Amino acid sequence: MAREDIRTFQLEKLRKLLRRVYDNVPFYRIRCDEAGLDPGNIQGLEDIRKLPFTTSDDLRLNYPYGLLAVSRDEVVRLHTSSGTTGKPKALFFSKGDIERSANLIARCLTMTGTGKGDVLQNMMTYGLFTGALVMHYGAEKVGALVIPAGPGNTDRQIALMQDFETTAFHITPSYALYLASVLQKKGIDPGKDLNLRRAYLGAESYSEETRKKIEYLFGIDVYNSYGLTEMNGPGVAFECTQKNGMHIWEDHFLAEIINPDTGEVLSDGQKGELVITSLRREAMPLIRYRTRDITQMITDVCECGRTHRRISRILGRSDDMFVVKGVNIFPQQIEQVLMGVTGVAQNYQIVLESYDTLIVKVEMSKELFDGNIEHLVKLQSQISEKIRAELIVKPKVELLEPGTLPVSEGKAKRVIDNRTM
Ligand code: AMP
Ligand code: ZN
Repeated sequence: MAREDIRTFQLEKLRKLLRRVYDNVPFYRIRCDEAGLDPGNIQGLEDIRKLPFTTSDDLRLNYPYGLLAVSRDEVVRLHTSSGTTGKPKALFFSKGDIERSANLIARCLTMTGTGKGDVLQNMMTYGLFTGALVMHYGAEKVGALVIPAGPGNTDRQIALMQDFETTAFHITPSYALYLASVLQKKGIDPGKDLNLRRAYLGAESYSEETRKKIEYLFGIDVYNSYGLTEMNGPGVAFECTQKNGMHIWEDHFLAEIINPDTGEVLSDGQKGELVITSLRREAMPLIRYRTRDITQMITDVCECGRTHRRISRILGRSDDMFVVKGVNIFPQQIEQVLMGVTGVAQNYQIVLESYDTLIVKVEMSKELFDGNIEHLVKLQSQISEKIRAELIVKPKVELLEPGTLPVSEGKAKRVIDNRTM
């Protein structure tokens, strides 16, 4: 579709959406009335800016059924997303929502070459999380053989890969790094001994360096997959084979980038928080939902020819950002440095002890942990210097034996904040 046609399509969906929520969701009806927005008189996509943002607090305050736009018996599935405090957020799917989310995943998989004949090992958590189930339905839709492995039990994962000749897998970046280290330990060379071709990595932010490292360790293509429960789960934005930003599926999602502090809408190319309106969700559409994810819109035409705009790799969540010595830092900036240093293994942790101390604990590769103190001291100052060059803040680096830090199967907890406010 030409850009203009996409916008026309979005406007038509937006009009219908606002009408629907006005008639069915008291929360949004009040908001429209307060903003003086008549859903029967939407002139352009920008009209949406008259409405305030929907936040995760709004979801909690209306928990569990308050934001439903259909009657309860139209709803066929519940997913939740855990917040940091209190009640989880409850999100509902109608039959149509399940169908549309599977279609979006099917689009993503087809775009990256997965289809009939592929064996997709799904190592995300099944259950209340969307990650595994939504991918599962989409992968079945394209005719792949889906192995609902879930995360963990790494020996069994490897046996499944061997026995069923897995070609593609869906995994968090932190678990992929761990899986690679177990394969190494077992003397299995994925490039020679397994049939893997590509992996889909999402659910947590990771750097380009980590992608490259995982591609190298497994001998595969890695594609970035972005989504959140509030917007179906995975399949909101996805990388094409250009691997240069994720196409956000604008026929389903209306995206804005805002300044997270002021709420001001930013122009294309400026870094800020992604705000999404789910144009086509039936059971529980959300308007101007604040994702908390920091990214930017890439507008130049993608080499692949698709006209959906792209968002850049997620830099982090605005609530993940921490401040040391007055400098704003995202964990991913540290990860990016670590992944570029030879001898550094897959696992690391950031510990904040006081206003001005940043501690970076990082596991070493087995070969480098050779007991030669001189080597270690050199490496330690090399890492510390590289991080200082990136962040201005000089960290205290602790080198650890492989296997010392906790291993994550789901979303990794990278930052331990021991500071008392
Ligand atoms: P959940 O709703 O529990 O599945 O979590 C969704 C959140 O996970 C998003 O808002 C992002 O913060 C994070 N996330 C998901 N996919 C990615 C990705 N590809 N890169 C970075 N963060 C991601
Ligand atoms: Zn593309």
